[in-house]
Amino acid sequence: MNLILLGPPGAGKGTQAKRLEERHGLVQLSTGDMLRAQVASGSPLGLKAKEIMQAGKLVPDDVMIAMIADRISQPDCARGFILDGFPRTVPQAEALDRMLTEKGLKLDQVIEMKVDDAALVDRITGRFTCARCGRGYHDRFNRPKDDGVCDACGGTEFTRRADDNAETVSTRLAAYHAQTAPILPYYRERGVLREVDGMAEIDVVTEQIEALLAGR
Ligand code: AMP
Repeated sequence: MNLILLGPPGAGKGTQAKRLEERHGLVQLSTGDMLRAQVASGSPLGLKAKEIMQAGKLVPDDVMIAMIADRISQPDCARGFILDGFPRTVPQAEALDRMLTEKGLKLDQVIEMKVDDAALVDRITGRFTCARCGRGYHDRFNRPKDDGVCDACGGTEFTRRADDNAETVSTRLAAYHAQTAPILPYYRERGVLREVDGMAEIDVVTEQIEALLAGR
């Protein structure tokens, strides 16, 4: 099963992708995570991407397409994957189609997570992640059961993304509406687009996605 989770920053794509990864043995392919790893390693690509990401803009299509082409060719992706943060432009969607056709793969569903813009700033500026296992949390909506201790792995160090601040969020939202939302009709025409209510509670969204995957 090959899926795309589509939605604005803060819609909950990463949270749901991690759950799908655990429940269905799929591989989460987060281009944001891949870029953050490049930034952390100080690679030439990371140095270039860092400024673009901190400004809330999109990294050029050719860079992103090459990154995902390389990742999708790795053996673990044969189990099926969830794309989280890619494609983000129509040229990326077209390139993905070509890649999948070449490999004899298909997209099963593209799931749009619909969320009001007004909710996103609060969601994004409050989020943090376990530094050890990557589990995501939120200051108000999704705290660890024991303060300061990760529910999943017991880790006690947490990180916040450099681009999760109020100034960058508005640029990221504008980029979503101008460059990413035009992908929706592209997939609607191909009959693979589905939607869930991303404003619902995390567990309810998971149930909605599970229902779509089960064809309910
Ligand atoms: P994310 O973790 O998906 O919110 O991505 C963080 C940042 O990485 C974005 O704001 C972009 O600057 C960059 N990025 C991630 N994925 C892509 C992509 N598919 N195309 C262009 N830029 C991307």
